[in-house]
Amino acid sequence: MSGDLSELYQQVILDHNKRPRNRGKLPTANRVAHGDNPTCGDQCSVYLRLDGDRIADLSFDGSGCAISQASASLMTTLLKGKTVAEAQALYDDFHRIVTTGTAPEEISDIGAFAGVHAFPARIKCATLGWHAAMNAIKGGDPVPATTETHTD
Ligand code: ZN
Repeated sequence: MSGDLSELYQQVILDHNKRPRNRGKLPTANRVAHGDNPTCGDQCSVYLRLDGDRIADLSFDGSGCAISQASASLMTTLLKGKTVAEAQALYDDFHRIVTTGTAPEEISDIGAFAGVHAFPARIKCATLGWHAAMNAIKGGDPVPATTETHTD
């Protein structure tokens, strides 16, 4: 990977970490799942509105290292509006990228995480939000009776 390319990829992670997308509780969510990664101290909750077979909306909330938060932020932008099957395919792609370092042929935001494969301890950071999202799709945790408001 050339210096320019890794710099570009780093920009994606820094940008999502600095300005996370879809962050905060989603008042309309009908699925919630939580994930944590004790080895790094990362926490991530995913709030998701599933309408039939489609992810109508989703958000995440959490704290932790830059990799975990940037990955969760990017995940929400990629899965929004997707069907469950499309989301599963994206998850499989992402998982392959972070475990093997094989980036997609075209330059994409998801490829920004290819470098993670060289640091096995960080793979859990990168997949935390995605795991939570897939768990939410598959049923997730019971939605709490009290809905808290979105804080921006
Ligand atoms: Zn982490």
